[in-house]
Amino acid sequence: MITKQVILKKDREKSANNRHPWIFSGAVARVEGDPENGDVVDVWNSRARFVARGVYNDKSQIRVRLLTWNPNDPIDEQFWQRRVSRAVAGRLALKQNQNTDSYRVVYSEADGVPGFIADVYGPWLVVQFLSMAVERHRRTILNILVDLMEPQGIYERSDTDAREKEGLVPVAGPVWGEVPPDLIEIVENGHTFLVDVKLGHKTGFYLDQRENRERISKYFEGKEVLNAFSYTGAFSVYAAHGGATRIINVDSSERALQIAERNMLRNGFGGRDDVYAVADVFDILRAYNEARWKFDVIILDPPKFSFSKRNVEKATHGYKDINMLAMKLLKRGGVLVTFSCSGTVSRDLFQKVLFGAAVDAGRTVQIIEQLSQGSDHPILLTCPETEYLKGFVCRVW
Ligand code: SAH
Repeated sequence: MITKQVILKKDREKSANNRHPWIFSGAVARVEGDPENGDVVDVWNSRARFVARGVYNDKSQIRVRLLTWNPNDPIDEQFWQRRVSRAVAGRLALKQNQNTDSYRVVYSEADGVPGFIADVYGPWLVVQFLSMAVERHRRTILNILVDLMEPQGIYERSDTDAREKEGLVPVAGPVWGEVPPDLIEIVENGHTFLVDVKLGHKTGFYLDQRENRERISKYFEGKEVLNAFSYTGAFSVYAAHGGATRIINVDSSERALQIAERNMLRNGFGGRDDVYAVADVFDILRAYNEARWKFDVIILDPPKFSFSKRNVEKATHGYKDINMLAMKLLKRGGVLVTFSCSGTVSRDLFQKVLFGAAVDAGRTVQIIEQLSQGSDHPILLTCPETEYLKGFVCRVW
């Protein structure tokens, strides 16, 4: 019998009624039953009616992470079993794909497991527990995953700031089975990549770009390409395979570029005239413009520039700057593939930023394709925050 309740303010019920999974501290009128952080609580509206059930955490701005809107749904092992099984079932087509062995199998709120991420890298799983809600149930969730996925081992990469916002200490290391090697070899659309699961970004690889990489492969035949923010060179391998004559990779991380070079070699593109430049993209775009260099194709896949609603404006200046510089660097009829992975920058806003960049660059720019995150990173309609990756393929005249 649950006796712990969070009662909502009268004018702050709408979002929970619409099945958004976050109750912010400002929406809470009262807390009853003295819940501890990590405890399951029932959320009631001001008329003492059940709204939803979730996990309480007073260390986080998100006071309750809602898990179910069904009053008869206890948060027990079967509950997590149903949620994780559903996520796994949604990836069946990917699991059976012979050309790809790596994908996101559980994506947080989008799969109804708020704060939990599990990525498949061949026989290995790399996981993140980023909220108190899932931290409290970590053993249960891991056991379910072991049963469903039968991995060789599970490695945890919860070493992110997100945990601090929940009052949790960042952690990383092996959590089940064998310990993966430092570099795991994976296959994506028939290409092989080394993935640095222990020290790389996020869980090691940008799985969310898989479908975009394949989709833009057609633009590279006979082209000179600038891959800015290249990380471990995933786009470059597709570009070389698509017939690119020369690829300039630019990233601030030397380790990422070393792996990029090894990835090119592994796919049969060693010993070419490609460049791996450790540099700041902002600086190098300016330097190339001063030197009047021109490219056929430019890929811009920067890290997140905006971390909250408060710094969106500053972030848009960064996006405008690099896009304007890149547009100027393209030959007439060249192709710009440009992304924003900032959740707080909407597709509309990103398009407006590109408009400003085109005007300032003095170039005529057409959008020829629109890109999003891969199908293994679903967007939950009731939680628009699950959408973060926006991309445009532009023809620049
Ligand atoms: N396109 C890549 C992912 C890019 S992630 C892929 O498909 O795998 C963003 C990359 O930008 C990271 O590798 C990070 O090291 C790099 N980075 C961040 N700020 C940078 C800057 N100012 N200049 C150059 N690289 C930067």
